[in-house]
Amino acid sequence: MASARPGDGIATLLAAQEGGATSAAHLVEASLHAIAQHDGELNSFVRVAADAAREQAARVDRRRAQGEPVGPLAGIPLGIKDNLLQQGLPAQAGSRILEGFVAPVDSTVVARLRAADAVLVGKTNLDEFAMGSGSETSVHGPVRNPWDHRRVAGGSSGGSAAAVAAGLVTAALGSDTGGSVRQPAAFCGLVGLKPTYGRVSRSGLIAFASSLDQVGPLASCVEDAARILQVIGGPDPADATAAPEPLPDLLAACRQGRAAGLPGIRLGVPRQFFPPGLDPRIADGVGQALDALGRAGATLVELDLPATAHGDAAYYLIAPAEAAANLARFDGVRYGRRAAGVADVAELYGRSRAEGFGPEVIRRLLLGTFALSAGYQERYYLRALQTRTLIREELQQAFRQVDLIAGPTTPGPPYLLGELAADPLAQYLQDCFTIPASLAGLPALSLPCGVTPEGLPVGLQLLAPAFQEQRLLAGAAAAEACLPPPRRLGGPA
Ligand code: GLN
Repeated sequence: MASARPGDGIATLLAAQEGGATSAAHLVEASLHAIAQHDGELNSFVRVAADAAREQAARVDRRRAQGEPVGPLAGIPLGIKDNLLQQGLPAQAGSRILEGFVAPVDSTVVARLRAADAVLVGKTNLDEFAMGSGSETSVHGPVRNPWDHRRVAGGSSGGSAAAVAAGLVTAALGSDTGGSVRQPAAFCGLVGLKPTYGRVSRSGLIAFASSLDQVGPLASCVEDAARILQVIGGPDPADATAAPEPLPDLLAACRQGRAAGLPGIRLGVPRQFFPPGLDPRIADGVGQALDALGRAGATLVELDLPATAHGDAAYYLIAPAEAAANLARFDGVRYGRRAAGVADVAELYGRSRAEGFGPEVIRRLLLGTFALSAGYQERYYLRALQTRTLIREELQQAFRQVDLIAGPTTPGPPYLLGELAADPLAQYLQDCFTIPASLAGLPALSLPCGVTPEGLPVGLQLLAPAFQEQRLLAGAAAAEACLPPPRRLGGPA
């Protein structure tokens, strides 16, 4: 199997290496070749670390040849979103203001992937500071969707999604604050997993909204996502918000879930996830998928979760407020790009920020600063926090009745590049179904569940109670086995 390709999936690639049919060196060359061939157009990578990746692959092959043990992701080519630090490489988070910044250390997740012998091929493109739904605001230019190059790959982890969907790498890390792993996964026909808040360390993730940010995998199947979470998740002394809960055996959960199937699983379907006016391509695609899961034995339970309908309004106050605090550190002095020819330090801060941040980031900083300002804080920020509590309680309550909650990941299929550029609100509404799990800190996953009549991928979202990734992955693996397999662009035909 010298023809093994990065898009083949982790189990296949591990077995092929163990059997001698391929090698880490071969896989990294295949990945670099695919990037060279296709990424000029897709723009999914902002930086390719070819030499370091080749060295990593050679080390894996050497260890294998000497009969030494190798890690659980040995020789697997991966992409890393460019808001995660990888030592020695620039980390720019899609922003001009971080021009010239080189990561002095590895983020915890990158260090854990290295320790698992994964081959880190490069850094992937994203919306500036992970704020967006189309990966169109990056200083490196927009990402294109491999399914249709005229369309967005989703955001903000659009580079990670496009790279995996096109088979340039086997899987990639993204970050999800309000949907940025799940939505691009849905737009690119992939599995995207946002873990429970606290499940994965945020140490070395360039912060957007610290009470929401979580790192998660984008992969071509549920099992691959589980294998990656198994490596990156778990307690971390470097991040006080990384929870002490030990990580269960997630691969075993997938296998048990697939074997057990859907009978006995109660699947809650909130009315609010099928609002009037929902794009019929999504309503039909997800509706048919839910019918298929029902026929396979799941019990569908209709839920009424009125507070979730206010998720967007709460999120677009809380996330910008936290961003305004987090991004205050970018002042042209400590990191990155500094404005030239200024008279004094106040002008230095002002000009560096005005030149360094793009319009969407500036919009968020203004919104967040306003929401926190004296006199408005009670009216906006504190009410948003109350709404967040209501949503969390409503979801907790719902999980007394059902095992998992299901619905669409996105309100529409991938839109055209530029289509929503002039309408920030329309972009914000892209997150209406992903935000409730973010605000409640719950694990959630997007699973491909078919295509629209014009052949664009549709995502089914599943939510589970906090720290129940096992249940989420078991249910997702069972559901995956009943749904039409997504077309693979980069893997075998
Ligand atoms: N699209 C959402 C936003 O723009 C979510 C981004 C994210 O999850 N990083 O804030």
